[in-house]
Amino acid sequence: MGEPLLEVKKLKKYFPVKAGFFSKPVAWVKAVDGVSLKLEQGEVLGLVGESGCGKTTLVNVILNLEEPTSGQVIFDGKDLYKMKPRELRETRKYIQIVFQDPFWSLNPRLLIRDIIGEPLSVHMKLSAGELVAKVEELLELVGLPKEGVYKYPHEFSGGERQRIAIARALALRPKLVVLDEPTSAIDVLSQAQILMLLKDLKEKMKLTYILISHDLSVVNYMADKIAVMYLGKIVEYGPADKVFSNPAHPYTKALFMAIPDPEREGIDSIMTLEGNVPSAINPPSGCRFHTRCPVATKICKEKEPPLVMLDDEHEASCFLIEK
Ligand code: SF4
Repeated sequence: MGEPLLEVKKLKKYFPVKAGFFSKPVAWVKAVDGVSLKLEQGEVLGLVGESGCGKTTLVNVILNLEEPTSGQVIFDGKDLYKMKPRELRETRKYIQIVFQDPFWSLNPRLLIRDIIGEPLSVHMKLSAGELVAKVEELLELVGLPKEGVYKYPHEFSGGERQRIAIARALALRPKLVVLDEPTSAIDVLSQAQILMLLKDLKEKMKLTYILISHDLSVVNYMADKIAVMYLGKIVEYGPADKVFSNPAHPYTKALFMAIPDPEREGIDSIMTLEGNVPSAINPPSGCRFHTRCPVATKICKEKEPPLVMLDDEHEASCFLIEK
């Protein structure tokens, strides 16, 4: 293997909580707090954790939508936050996102030609005819008839709209695509078709995905690697088959092993842990999970557990884990 396509190093993103007449920061929301991960070209990383664990902030920093407080995002060998504006503009073409809900992510007043063609017109000099031909090609790539080019989003079903959103994300031939709950807003039959399409496109276009999903069956189907996040930190990270079959961290176990029906359950609805996720403004001392961990001991409140390598690829941070 060569260089990873994406490397996130000790990434932190804190948001100020402001108060008073001068709006001075009085505290910080530690949304992402020291995250490191690597993604090889062609891999799928499943990012899981309850709402508010920092997944969205992490991908926003990777997408260059939020500046990190500290740390690095290395994309294709270069630090995204040290690039000159022109180089950054070029690089951003290669990192795209498919949103959860194709009903609001597509402008209802625009023709499909303009929705899919918009990134093409921004980055490439194309004649009107060339643009239409490119959009037709993209429609066919995602399994839609090219005649759709002169239709509006409301003329398509939910699954078809998600195909259009995928076509738009692929217009500039990206290398990395963030899939943010790509199937949660569409019907069950279309969900399976969209997942198959995404797998197929990954092979055809040599894509790399970061997949955010509450549906563990989707993560299990798609992901090569899994990162489990809790309160801004990755608590377990490794190959999907190992993390699914042998989860090591008590939080991962609670997510994966307490699933009554692994076919169709979301994370938030199946958590058997007591209490709520603590505030990211003032996270618990020691292990952040100790306030909800059923097997916490005294040391868990006092010290932060180190990341333990279970093998060459699988790691988790908990005092109970032995090498
Ligand atoms: Fe639970 Fe302690 Fe392990 Fe944290 S370090 S997960 S509190 S046992």
